[in-house]
Amino acid sequence: MTAPITPDVITIPRKQDLDAKPNLIGLSRDALKAAFAEIGTPEKQLKMRVNQVWGWIYQKGVTSFDDMTNLSKDFRTNLAENFQITRPEIVTRQISNDGTRKYLLRVAGGHEVEVVYIPETNRGTLCISSQIGCTLTCPFCHTGTQKLVRNLTAGEIVSQILVARDDLEEWGKPAGDKRLISNIVLMGMGEPLYNTDNVRDAMLIAMDNEGISLSRRRITLSTSGVVPEIIRAGAEIGCMLAISFHATTDDVRDKLVPINRKHKIAELLQACRDYPRLSNSERITFEYVMLDGVNDSDADARRLVKLISGIPAKINLIPFNPWPGSPYKRSNWDRIEAFADIVNEAGYASPIRTPRGEDIMAACGQLKSATERQRKSAKKIAQETGT
Ligand code: SAH
Ligand code: SF4
Repeated sequence: MTAPITPDVITIPRKQDLDAKPNLIGLSRDALKAAFAEIGTPEKQLKMRVNQVWGWIYQKGVTSFDDMTNLSKDFRTNLAENFQITRPEIVTRQISNDGTRKYLLRVAGGHEVEVVYIPETNRGTLCISSQIGCTLTCPFCHTGTQKLVRNLTAGEIVSQILVARDDLEEWGKPAGDKRLISNIVLMGMGEPLYNTDNVRDAMLIAMDNEGISLSRRRITLSTSGVVPEIIRAGAEIGCMLAISFHATTDDVRDKLVPINRKHKIAELLQACRDYPRLSNSERITFEYVMLDGVNDSDADARRLVKLISGIPAKINLIPFNPWPGSPYKRSNWDRIEAFADIVNEAGYASPIRTPRGEDIMAACGQLKSATERQRKSAKKIAQETGT
């Protein structure tokens, strides 16, 4: 007897899951060398071949071996038979009134990640994700209410840049201010320092001079305070560091940023003081979410400047971005300004981050959740209307 078919539980595997050919995106130069050696590339050609393919993938953005016109036909065929150059699929792209773009990408396994592009007058910042969900549970962050699905691979992390460059038609442009994507922030979904190896490998690719060629000073990694990994990030990535500080006493920080129960403020600040190359031109950014009545008093502002005294720093004040059911309220504007004044008078730059892309739920701490919510309500509507 044949088993009954229940169509709603059948998951159709995605093409990228079925295709077993290794994806070249995300492999280091050494890994590429090894991969090319395995398909019979002569030893003395390896370095040149890697350079050529690297340039096509990361400088020109090609996605087909056929387009790699300086490679012999035979080598191109050999590559195509053994490898693929596949980016995650763009599921949706939303463009806000203020020009912010939010992409929802589908990665292997059918999971989805969000990437946000924020254009500004003198630069453009791409906010990328490092994990699907997050294991930490900061109560003001909507990503924190979602379980961790998995770490993203180096290829999936660097692909977020490739996809945005495709969309912004940015291939082949020289590095620097004039690029639409001039800066990268690891401030999307997830805790980058719980996925340090893959984040490092992806950022080393982004920094490579013969590829995307982003200076390490244009890459900022934001962490909630994974102290041992901060030390590694400094040594192995060397990018700029942002700390999600958010509170000035261990009592309050234990609640707002629960990793504080493991790594207390004093230990975190010591890791900051030890971060390599700290100077006025390479400052640490302290992110501070402004939560009404929780962490926004004058006393907090004064404690904050005292705590970080001596660290070359800027304090980024982030007005809380609420989400349905969130247990906090955004501090009012006067409060935020009063707090900023105290920090400023102590000699620290204290920009107040303007929420961007609010109409498309692209602001800090709103990622992924919005999409899930939309999908849920679409499902609910379908149930209600019987469609
Ligand atoms: N996990 C990392 C990076 C991602 S979060 C970290 O915590 O640093 C990027 C920034 O957005 C962090 O400073 C985070 O605390 C902040 N954030 C999260 N939810 C927010 C919200 N609802 N409103 C404002 N900022 C938020
Ligand atoms: Fe995770 Fe960062 Fe959100 Fe905390 S603020 S839950 S560490 S993504």
